[in-house]
Amino acid sequence: MIDSLVPLTIATSDSADKDAVASGSGKINLLGLSEAKLVAFFESIGEKKFRAIQVLKWIHQFGADNFDYMTNVSKDLRAKLKNIAEIRPPEVAQQFDSADGTRKFLIRVSGNNVIETVFIPDGDRGTLCVSSQVGCSLDCSFCATGKQGFNRDLTAAEIIGQVWIAAKSFGQLAANGPRVVTNVVMMGMGEPLMNFDNVVDSMSLMMDDNAYGISKRRVTLSTSGVVPQLDRLSQYTDACLAISLHAPNDELRNELVPINRKYPIAMLLASAKRYIEAMPDTHRKITIEYTLIDQVNDRPHHAHELAALLRDVPVKINLIPFNPFNLSNYKRVSNNALRKFQDILMEAGYITTVRTTRGDDIDAACGQLAGTVNDITKRSERHRARFDEVQSVRLIGE
Ligand code: SAH
Ligand code: SF4
Repeated sequence: MIDSLVPLTIATSDSADKDAVASGSGKINLLGLSEAKLVAFFESIGEKKFRAIQVLKWIHQFGADNFDYMTNVSKDLRAKLKNIAEIRPPEVAQQFDSADGTRKFLIRVSGNNVIETVFIPDGDRGTLCVSSQVGCSLDCSFCATGKQGFNRDLTAAEIIGQVWIAAKSFGQLAANGPRVVTNVVMMGMGEPLMNFDNVVDSMSLMMDDNAYGISKRRVTLSTSGVVPQLDRLSQYTDACLAISLHAPNDELRNELVPINRKYPIAMLLASAKRYIEAMPDTHRKITIEYTLIDQVNDRPHHAHELAALLRDVPVKINLIPFNPFNLSNYKRVSNNALRKFQDILMEAGYITTVRTTRGDDIDAACGQLAGTVNDITKRSERHRARFDEVQSVRLIGE
């Protein structure tokens, strides 16, 4: 099994573990520690590995947020843990239930920010769409999260905490609790590869048999293409990979997904291919996500160009009708254009699915997740704008 990142170093600096001691209590938050890090922590306090595994199971399989629940752990050890550690999930600010069964959580994280997590039931399958950052700095032109700007990376505890909260809300974290969250997609707010260490640690917990035990084929990381981090990914995880492509050529993709100017399509597809080639199991496919926007990237010539572009890449294609939101003038693809686009790709031999819009009535659809982001970047932009105003008033007065 591919393990999570390097062993634990309890640090208050700007490291992957900074969240572990960030509560102000000075205690280490065990919720966000991968198995390897939890074992390292237990060893650092003179305790055996199997004790760490017991605690891991209490947290992630039985939803314990208090050491007193851990009846198979000695009283002495519980007291010792209480002094130096805690299990602190983020706080649910609000929960919305859609008529179609979709459930959205607004989760408060420090700095008065709110992130969103969405659970989408579909027959036997329950997919949780998890956020990785407070906002996103990559500013894709069609994405509500991008338009909100960026505040900070989520900690590992805040990322896995979303799974903990959702699973617990469905009674999954109990003895013989039903397995409700069967799939996780890192497709909520944020760009997972921009928060590499915390995302990788959280995904290792999702797939860990001593934690959530979700199969590697049911955990998906979606990226808009941070190539240097994608190149490292196979060393740390064997989860599924989705690439947010959205355009068949660099000229158009530069407009829609600005990070393409740095890491163009050829570079991105080559890196994605290397990722799946590094997987031990063959027949893996990359999911290509393509958000269809009326008159922008939804023409038949775009579909033909896309089919040619992906000829040598093992892919399945997921078409996502654009979901409108306030700050955007783009329009949803028409049903005709969507059908035509799909037909062209299928005729070219690609498995091509269309993502149905779910949770529309609670603003929980793809790309509508905005939360409340106190954007440091925009704050500084406003600051610059005020500064410019003062300068020009001075110039006029001179
Ligand atoms: N940052 C990552 C993951 C989060 S976005 C990424 O970009 O892949 C998850 C998916 O939702 C991406 O494919 C994204 O392109 C898509 N998306 C964003 N805004 C959308 C919108 N308004 N309508 C439909 N899909 C959208
Ligand atoms: Fe960020 Fe993904 Fe939205 Fe682009 S689509 S702004 S990468 S969250």
